[in-house]
Amino acid sequence: RAGDPRVEEPGGPRASNEAPLSGRGGDILELFATQGLRPEAVHRTRLKIGEGIVGDIAASAHPFALADAQAHPNFAYRPETGEEIYHSMMGVPILRDGRVVGVVAVQNRTRRHYTDEEVETLQTVAMVLAEMIAGARLGARPGLRDADALAPKPHRLKGARLAAGVGMGAAVLHRPRVALQRMVAENPSAEHERLRRAFAEMHGALDDLFSAARLGPSGAHRDVLEAYRMIAEDAGWFGRIEKAIEGGLTAEAAVQKVQNDIRARLSQVGDAYLRERVDDFDDLANRMIQHLAGEDASRRLKTLPEDVIVVARTLGPAELLDYDSSRLRGVVLEEGSPTAHVALLARALEIPVVGKATEALARIEPGDVIVVDGDNAQVMIRPGEDVRKAFRAAIRTGAERRAGYVERRDEPAVTRDGVLVKVNINAGLLIDMGHLHEFGADGVGLYRTEIPFLVRPAFPDVAAQRDLYLRILEQAKGKPVVFRTLDIGGDKMSPYWDHSGEENPAMGWRAIRVALGRPAILRQQARALIQAAAGGELRVMFPMIATVAEFEAARAIFEREVERERAAGRPLPRPLKVGAMLEVPSLLFELDALLARADFISVGSNDLLQFLFASDRGAPGLAERYDPLSPLVLGCLADVVARAERAGKPAGLCGEIAERPLEAMALIGLGFRDLSLSPPAVGPIKDMIRSLDLAALTAFMATLAPGGAGRPSQRPGADDAAGAFFHGAFAPGAGNSPRQALRDFARAHGVAI
Ligand code: PEP
Ligand code: MG
Repeated sequence: RAGDPRVEEPGGPRASNEAPLSGRGGDILELFATQGLRPEAVHRTRLKIGEGIVGDIAASAHPFALADAQAHPNFAYRPETGEEIYHSMMGVPILRDGRVVGVVAVQNRTRRHYTDEEVETLQTVAMVLAEMIAGARLGARPGLRDADALAPKPHRLKGARLAAGVGMGAAVLHRPRVALQRMVAENPSAEHERLRRAFAEMHGALDDLFSAARLGPSGAHRDVLEAYRMIAEDAGWFGRIEKAIEGGLTAEAAVQKVQNDIRARLSQVGDAYLRERVDDFDDLANRMIQHLAGEDASRRLKTLPEDVIVVARTLGPAELLDYDSSRLRGVVLEEGSPTAHVALLARALEIPVVGKATEALARIEPGDVIVVDGDNAQVMIRPGEDVRKAFRAAIRTGAERRAGYVERRDEPAVTRDGVLVKVNINAGLLIDMGHLHEFGADGVGLYRTEIPFLVRPAFPDVAAQRDLYLRILEQAKGKPVVFRTLDIGGDKMSPYWDHSGEENPAMGWRAIRVALGRPAILRQQARALIQAAAGGELRVMFPMIATVAEFEAARAIFEREVERERAAGRPLPRPLKVGAMLEVPSLLFELDALLARADFISVGSNDLLQFLFASDRGAPGLAERYDPLSPLVLGCLADVVARAERAGKPAGLCGEIAERPLEAMALIGLGFRDLSLSPPAVGPIKDMIRSLDLAALTAFMATLAPGGAGRPSQRPGADDAAGAFFHGAFAPGAGNSPRQALRDFARAHGVAI
């Protein structure tokens, strides 16, 4: 029989008022049509996503073929269907624009083994169904869009900040898909020819796009665009499309089919990095289909009105570039993550982006006035005139303020009482190196070397790494750069990495653990870094160090490479500074021993706080639960600074707390003199520092976190760091939090926060 249960609302969960609007978790599959099951079950039988085998197919977006479905542990029996007489079952997801909109299944009475060809045939049937569902809006009920269309009211969506800044403009809904007209072809060689022509055309158009003048000097976006191009040129991808044409599909249906397969495969892996590459593949597949249909999206999008906000489920990097960036004021995405290629590019182009705005496409109509507030991760839809006025003013002030930061970039960050605080940037792409000079930062306090690894489809060899590090050092123009060795694993996955099945990747096989487990990786990186330094200064630090022994092991590997270079007669880095990131709480208990061995430390507060509070740094629901300005954290950091000072070793901080003015003020009050933060925060933080009376602040912080810098710890032993957690006893004003107390201090002393 062929059953066609479908997701309750074609068009996905966003069209439903009852279902939770975030994700598929609460969606329902409903038996929509059948041949072979009891007709009375139609519209009655329902399964949750993930329930039963059909629910599993919908949840995983992956085909299933079982010789005995009833023996499967997830089999969900529905007596009204009369399905007990059927044994074997194969089912495939019906995919539309990357969303599962339903499932189509076939069952047999016998225990039959389905062949791969049969599953593929059913996938082709599912593609046809997907087009029919989209074309007919099969059984659509009025959803949010229709209800709202009657009374378009202002609305605010919360999302995630993917690129900072504020922009306002008219909504353009990104519609990459061209409806497929034909699925099945009579003449495969004609389809091969069409495919080859479209492929060549697409590459020509991409060349034009990437070499467009507004992208600035070549090399700036190289990492992201190179990765994209490698996917575009990937012989495997093209070969799979050709094979699908051999199976009888038209060229565009073949592209679509391969894209569905890629989605299904990558969604199984379920890690952030690969999901983001799905967007790159989507971008390419849509582009190919447009070329096959004789459309060139980039030309169409060049004729946009002034001030545009693009609203999309996801965007690939090239799709972003299709829009004329001189008119593009912001982007709203229903999905997306801060490390997605589109987010990296948007930051480079200074276009604000809010992601994870789950209802955006259901709520926003073309032409609606939209404010994208990347700074506060919110989207204002059809705001009233007063709100528009306020944002217009904020945009204007923002532009003026920015011009001021650039004007003052050569002034150092010195407090009113004459103390210099170094303000560095966190970088991960070559484009960031331009910001080092644009905003007048002192150096790069954290270069995340894994980012170039992540955007490449294969592991870069020593020569490729050396060339990259050389370019980074060249672009630093003599300013110091701290290279962090690979922090791969955890949420930072790469396609050539074995990351199968870790339940807790943030605490799993990642960072220095990988480097020590597979020393060849660290050896190669060390060699590339040493060679790139070419006799000059080299600063490196190791991520996720949990014990002093790990630091020593990593340092030994590095030093062995230095010896190797010496033996080869090549110049050695002078000086070579090797540091550790303080990100794992266990290291607090060995801090003195670490400080005796490391040349410097850098607090990675993103991970340190995540592990200190056992609170996932990416979980939105927990974002505000544990305050980094709590007595506990202030006491802990005060102790770190005091110990580093005693040991005579520099201690910096490179987590996100350093980019918020109030938090940065507290850190400086605790004794930190070296902060590293994202480039756009450099100007505001330097201004804040210039407005500080450090003596007053230090005295004030001593009341919040006794034992900080300049106030040697009263505690006796050198290794009682555990006490640090409890020493930040907070005393002033009953009922007043340190955060509030710090705010009051800033206001009273005219600090620019
Ligand atoms: C940190 O953990 O604070 C840090 C700077 O490293 P990352 O954000 O790259 O994990
Ligand atoms: Mg970290």
